[in-house]
Amino acid sequence: MAPASIWVRSCNFYSPDNFGSPRNAIVKTLLQSLLLATLLQIPVGLSAAEVILDYLDTDDKADAAALIDSGVLEDGIAFINGAFTLVRDIKVILGAQDGPLYDPAISEIHIHYHFYLEVIDRIDDLESDIEEQEVFASDAMLHTLYHELGHALIDQLEIPVVGKEEDAVDGLASMLLLEYYDDGADMAANAAELFALESEDRGELEAADFWDEHSLDEQRYYSTLCHIVGSDTQKYQALADDIGFSQDRVEFCEESYERMVYDWETLLEDSFRP
Ligand SMILES: [Zn+2]
Repeated sequence: MAPASIWVRSCNFYSPDNFGSPRNAIVKTLLQSLLLATLLQIPVGLSAAEVILDYLDTDDKADAAALIDSGVLEDGIAFINGAFTLVRDIKVILGAQDGPLYDPAISEIHIHYHFYLEVIDRIDDLESDIEEQEVFASDAMLHTLYHELGHALIDQLEIPVVGKEEDAVDGLASMLLLEYYDDGADMAANAAELFALESEDRGELEAADFWDEHSLDEQRYYSTLCHIVGSDTQKYQALADDIGFSQDRVEFCEESYERMVYDWETLLEDSFRP
């Protein structure tokens, strides 16, 4: 597939005026609330359980510094801790050997340090500058964090899942970006773009690709774009045209997105308070 045209389009969302400014009013507000609550010694939230970030020591200092300095995981975790009431702590282990993954046996999300620079490497040969590459990597990282959060919520809240869990948590990640971030569509578009780039790693399709728990990267790419289009079909009609979605598909995206938001908000009714 040829994702470059979408990448160029998605880069256009980032004006110099916006770049470098606080990217998310909600997270900013949450951080301010947390700071105020800390100063006043007010308990935050109804639950003591929270997401905790844990950094492992590593020899890959450059990889670790790039990811840590981006601050993207801290921002994402601040959003989660401000918006969700958890049953038990979730540890995010940064610098794990494997991942990104969620391990239900120990309630841990594992992310390796190389993830961030690996994403930057993937788009390094495309027409983008380092600032755009860092935004791209941060957006992909955040989508991934919320994908793993989805697995953790399904586990600890014992949420019933009918269908592919991997698709369900992809949808949650997109929904959180689209509904609660000012520039969530741009962020989800970058996450989609990463799926397109990852699809280029694969050679001929084999049986294992079809029985894998994840949908094909191409399907994850189009599903994420479908979520964006479905979140506001008027606003993203041009995107739908770029992708080549038929009008029937646009209508399907709208209906399925509305249904997905309703389903997730219903399932998370007692634990989600954005
Ligand atoms: Zn997953």
